[in-house]
Amino acid sequence: MSGQFFFSLLNPVVTAMLATTFLLLWRQRPDQTYLAVLSLSFFACGLAFVANDFMQPFDSPLSRIVANVFFLAATVGACIGALLRAKVAVPVRFFALVCGLCAAGFCWFLFVSPSTEARIYVVNAAYVVIGSASALALIRARPSSGLDWTFVVLMVCLISLGIIRPFAAFMDSLDTYGGGALRYSTYWATVQAATPALAIAVGIAFLVALAERVNDELRLEADRDFLTGLLNRRGFHKGVHLALAGNRFGALRPAVIMVDIDNFKRINDEFGHAVGDDVIAAIAHVLTKHGEADLTARTGGEEFTLFYRTGTDEDLRERADDIRLAVSQARIPEECPVTVSLGLYSGARHDTIAEMMAAADQALYDAKRSGKDRAVLGTSTSPPADANLDQRQFRQPKTG
Ligand code: GH3
Ligand code: MG
Ligand code: MG
Repeated sequence: MSGQFFFSLLNPVVTAMLATTFLLLWRQRPDQTYLAVLSLSFFACGLAFVANDFMQPFDSPLSRIVANVFFLAATVGACIGALLRAKVAVPVRFFALVCGLCAAGFCWFLFVSPSTEARIYVVNAAYVVIGSASALALIRARPSSGLDWTFVVLMVCLISLGIIRPFAAFMDSLDTYGGGALRYSTYWATVQAATPALAIAVGIAFLVALAERVNDELRLEADRDFLTGLLNRRGFHKGVHLALAGNRFGALRPAVIMVDIDNFKRINDEFGHAVGDDVIAAIAHVLTKHGEADLTARTGGEEFTLFYRTGTDEDLRERADDIRLAVSQARIPEECPVTVSLGLYSGARHDTIAEMMAAADQALYDAKRSGKDRAVLGTSTSPPADANLDQRQFRQPKTG
């Protein structure tokens, strides 16, 4: 067996491994269509090399057509994969048109006016056009990360290979008919050597992209409450710190509202935990809809916190009235009207979130102690800045 034989095995083996990897990944993440497209692309690439390097006994125009169809499919597949990953529309008609023209040119120079060089130019022209269209589409979608740009760079590599190699063949720097057939030429040796490098680079870029997506999803999940879809305590604190990062000079007057469902234990005991869960979800919905907060979080079992980058006492009162009215109309479960108590706190300019939460919590505690189903406006628990303010309590008559 010659060294050439083992060299020819390189591409089918590498692409088969990549095709299998992406197929397995796609089976785990069927929502990520680009993984399936990429698997097919690598698979087609491997078949193209098999058709070209191992089909000598069946050497015929048909085997050349088959090999080039697979090469074109592999290129189009990789480009479509990159576009789908970036959520960019695939120019299907344009790609089909380029493939059609390529097929026509290829057949012309195979049957009508046979020329290996001309076929090389036609096929590479198609790679360059498809790669350029994809690179342009990716750039137009405004790449925002190093990873996004990596895909543009990979397209540029594809385009460069599609220009440099035919150009070298044109200048006679690469022979295309070395040992009596294209597959023995130095031109083909460059294809065999460069393709695995490009395939592995493409594979790694997509694997990193998938890892980044999974990481983003996990980060998002770690900050969310599963039952309500609201931020959890951790996500809430992260969001607040971000929101207050620009408040170093005290330009904002941040505010919080703490909401606690009244007598929730009784709802659980009377109607069961499933209904209790429905109530929590329904209250979360009301708060999202009527709270008009910058951040809405479930910060405890049946406890929620709303954060406002800026809010006056009057703003908070209005929000509290809206929330209580909407809760009274929600009626979940039908037989059991649910009420909530609220602790409101509009911060002094330099209050920390911990101080604001402590003040709102104290107000909420006062609302509970004085009969529930009401909102209480709190004062700072950290002396002495707001010590001149008295705690104000008010009760809204229920409407609706
Ligand atoms: P209060 O009016 O003073 O707030 O009384 P409460 O009964 O609402 O409050 P308490 O703290 O006594 O009970 C809260 C209950 O909420 C206890 C706990 O079993 C229940 N709970 C906490 N998380 C969940 C949850 O995710 N689902 C359900 N169904 N119940 C929960
Ligand atoms: Mg409660
Ligand atoms: Mg509670």
